[in-house]
Amino acid sequence: MFYLSTRNNKISKTPSEAVLEGIARDGGLYMPKSFDGCAFPMEKLEEMTNKEISAEVISLLFSGDKMLANENGELAGAYALVSRAYDGKFENEDYAPLAKVGDAYVMELYHGPTCAFKDVALQLLPQLVSAAKESTGEKDEIVILTATSGDTGSAALSGFSGVDGIKIIVFYPRNGISAVQERQMVSVDGKNTCVCSVGGNFDDAQSGVKNIFASLKLPEGVKLSSANSINIGRLAPQVAYYFKSYRDLLKNGEIKMGDKVNFIVPTGNFGDILAGYFAKKMGLPVGKLVCASNANKVLTDFFENGVYNKNRSFFVTNSPSMDILISSNLERLLYLTCGDEKCAYYMAQLKEKGEYKLEKDELDKIKSEFDAGFTSEDETIKTIRDVYEKHGYLMDTHTAVAWSVYEKWQKETGNTDKTVVLSTASPYKFSNSVMNALGKEYDGEFDALKKLNAYTGAKIPSSLDGIENKIVFHKVTVEKDEMLSFVDKMVNTKVWHE
Ligand SMILES: *Cc1c(COP(=O)(O)O)cnc(C)c1O
Repeated sequence: MFYLSTRNNKISKTPSEAVLEGIARDGGLYMPKSFDGCAFPMEKLEEMTNKEISAEVISLLFSGDKMLANENGELAGAYALVSRAYDGKFENEDYAPLAKVGDAYVMELYHGPTCAFKDVALQLLPQLVSAAKESTGEKDEIVILTATSGDTGSAALSGFSGVDGIKIIVFYPRNGISAVQERQMVSVDGKNTCVCSVGGNFDDAQSGVKNIFASLKLPEGVKLSSANSINIGRLAPQVAYYFKSYRDLLKNGEIKMGDKVNFIVPTGNFGDILAGYFAKKMGLPVGKLVCASNANKVLTDFFENGVYNKNRSFFVTNSPSMDILISSNLERLLYLTCGDEKCAYYMAQLKEKGEYKLEKDELDKIKSEFDAGFTSEDETIKTIRDVYEKHGYLMDTHTAVAWSVYEKWQKETGNTDKTVVLSTASPYKFSNSVMNALGKEYDGEFDALKKLNAYTGAKIPSSLDGIENKIVFHKVTVEKDEMLSFVDKMVNTKVWHE
């Protein structure tokens, strides 16, 4: 398998190189040259274990790469990486259980170490980076640089903490994340980790990081890379749970092999839903992929009229991990729809004018595979309450956005195929909003966590239980114009913590 830049097919890399670089030098994202050799062995699916499914996906998408080298073949190589990533890391034996709620299924992807679905990818990414580093003979130290609005940072820290030859620096907005999210990050004590708050909002932190990638002069022996979902090594692991949920439905007798299943995905950077599209390309019988947004509905508008326009107001919502105006991974869908030259053109338009418009045939092609909808703040809150009252099922705000879009979509289309709604965070990760939705009182975020447990009886994930007592290990804070010099100092410091 080779990976090509979405903006120029002449830029071609091995999977290892693509994973180590993160982003192509022309600003494009790496995509498989073709899905032709990537057909998933559907006839075996029902008998496969979760880890076998993940290994199969990785071995197909990264086939022929030395990072999978193993005396028993590439599949065994992939299985070894998957085992190292996942064994003992998830709260349940089943890392993504399906819960039946009404007529639909909720796939709970949040039973990992930081209680958001990003763990599924970010536990495996470090193993892929390490293996890629070894197989390419890369001797330099890799420094992962990430700006986070909350969930990415903690999941990336959890994945990379303690991994040899790799360091990680995470920036978060000083007043822009929840107390639980902050404590999850600043209590990570890995010697290769650095967590730093920035005076500013998420966009400031994100721009600061982009600026560092563009202008920092690195010392000999150090390379930068990214843990964001622009990295193909972050996207590939997510493809597996689409197959896994299909297997579960087969086993439950809910579907027969070949039946179409719809997926409703709470979307921000378009990584999660794109992984579902990869699964479809690899042979999973997917009906519609429905892109669910909150009040920042740039994607809903795009799927409606083919115009992507980021020149609009930005809303801070109760589903903050989906508050985004530029969904990076949409570029990969454009590439699959209209090729590298056109994709490069649209991305240039987006940069210059903040806007681009698809041709009608391009939009039609996309609409045959995707639907989209959005949910307001009030609807999100009402959905949490209604679903809890009607089904006794507790969901977080991001999942509620998807659930609400599901109900509206089903009413509108009359679609009766089996549907899986992706649940991306534990209700305990956003206890405040969930308590508000249930109309309950509390005194601060840590108290909300306890009271939510007292009220619903739902188990607190072990990583959040007693989080307020976790020791703060990282206390550094910088202003936004100090980020560059801060990273410069860090990459020139060999030992970060004793
Ligand atoms: C990151 C995140 C999302 C959005 O996922 P994308 O892959 O960026 O579309 C949704 N929900 C939660 C809880 C998240 O952390």
